[in-house]
Amino acid sequence: MSGEDRTGPPRFRVIEKPDNRLWIISNCNFTPEDKFGILNKNRSGGRIGARNKQWRELQMSDYVQMWKDLGMDLENHDLLCQVLPTAVGDVFLSQENRPKAMDFWDLVISEVHGIRPAELIEAQKQGRKVFGTFCVYVPDEVIIAADGIFTGLCGGSQFWVPDGEAVLPKSTCPLVKASVGARLGKTCPFFRIADMYVGETTCDGKKKAYEILGEDVPMYIMDVPQMKREKDILKWKEEIADFAKMLEEFTGNTITPEKLGEAIHIINEKRKALARVYECRKSECLPISGRDALLMTQISFFDDPVRCAQMCNRLADELEQRIKDGVSVVPAGTKRILITGTPLAVPNWKLHNIIETSGGAVVCEEMCTGTRYFENLVDETKTTLDEQFMALSQRYMKTNCACFTPNTGRIDDILRLVKEYKVDGVIDCNLKFCCLYDTEKYSVTRALKEAGVPVLSLETDYADTDAEQLRTRIGAFIELLNG
Ligand code: SF4
Ligand code: SF4
Repeated sequence: MSGEDRTGPPRFRVIEKPDNRLWIISNCNFTPEDKFGILNKNRSGGRIGARNKQWRELQMSDYVQMWKDLGMDLENHDLLCQVLPTAVGDVFLSQENRPKAMDFWDLVISEVHGIRPAELIEAQKQGRKVFGTFCVYVPDEVIIAADGIFTGLCGGSQFWVPDGEAVLPKSTCPLVKASVGARLGKTCPFFRIADMYVGETTCDGKKKAYEILGEDVPMYIMDVPQMKREKDILKWKEEIADFAKMLEEFTGNTITPEKLGEAIHIINEKRKALARVYECRKSECLPISGRDALLMTQISFFDDPVRCAQMCNRLADELEQRIKDGVSVVPAGTKRILITGTPLAVPNWKLHNIIETSGGAVVCEEMCTGTRYFENLVDETKTTLDEQFMALSQRYMKTNCACFTPNTGRIDDILRLVKEYKVDGVIDCNLKFCCLYDTEKYSVTRALKEAGVPVLSLETDYADTDAEQLRTRIGAFIELLNG
């Protein structure tokens, strides 16, 4: 700790010791034992252990001032803070035989409103701008090239839905209602920190919600094409170029080909690291649960991309070794499930949790919180901004979101992933009131049936009220797969 700057709000850095232990270096005045304590999991009841509690309380008291400064509703936020540790304990820490490298994500999720927000605030003090995004179509590379920081903003908790419903129709999808509620209810630090929100014209629910979100925060909207013809790829390239211009003005920084090239490399490395973890999920010997893989992906939307790649590679190293050693998290013969559909924003772990506590194993997600986020790299050989914007457009337009028509590429992806991940059955799960993915259910189901792949279609939201019903249907589906 000597030599570390202990002033200012809490910040953290993760370092790996030669003996593979993970250390959190913080600027707070802790003893080494306190700092290391956070990484020791106490599996009884899934709660953080005594030493961790001491660490946590100390850290929380630092965060309270930060939350106050952000203008958050502390009373309401306390309610959220009370339920999150229990959920983390029940869904994650209760699992047996987890990869050790999940310690990093356990730490981040248990301090999700503290650690990363504190880092972002510190960066703002150094003059950097933070951009909150809602869709995998927004090119993070351009934000980094302008020396900005991106952070995901989608909400995945029922906790935020009522505040969203206060201004939106009830028949809006829960993801949009939760995102708006997180902002208006003043209970999410990321929504308070962002200097600008970057929206996009994907679905109608989001488009209209951005008008409300943009009332008291600068809002920039990217116009995503609805088709994928050559002229649409050119149009998206122009849209990316306009985005770059706006970023230069907003940040006061110039985007050069060198800076953009470096940013493209950083995000490609992050994609490759995520892909390495997913590659391990293709193995018959399954070294990681779907829940843990989902948590890794969800946090990757919020984390620093270089650290994210480093931690994902560290996890992949361990998973590759586990496969060599024959270490699986499920018994041989456990049915392998691919989930497809609408994104699962943090902390939406409902579906994975039900499947994996009903005897199935989630091996892949054809979702924006899954393969759509990291598949396809940006061409790194381009040397002018014009060429780089085109390379970015070409890569991003390969993402198969239901907001495009036609969207046959998504069907091809699902069929390909079923083979690659040796999938026994597919669960097509969509959020209530998402008519785009709901309508695509027709062609997804037909294609899978034609290919002889069992499929279960579900619709749900963030509430727990349908959990038992889902458990019954999913249990019956897994029984059917078991023959
Ligand atoms: S589902 Fe579509 S709109 Fe939603 S994050 Fe993915 S690409 Fe964006
Ligand atoms: S889940 Fe569907 S309705 Fe909701 S934000 Fe995504 S595309 Fe829009």
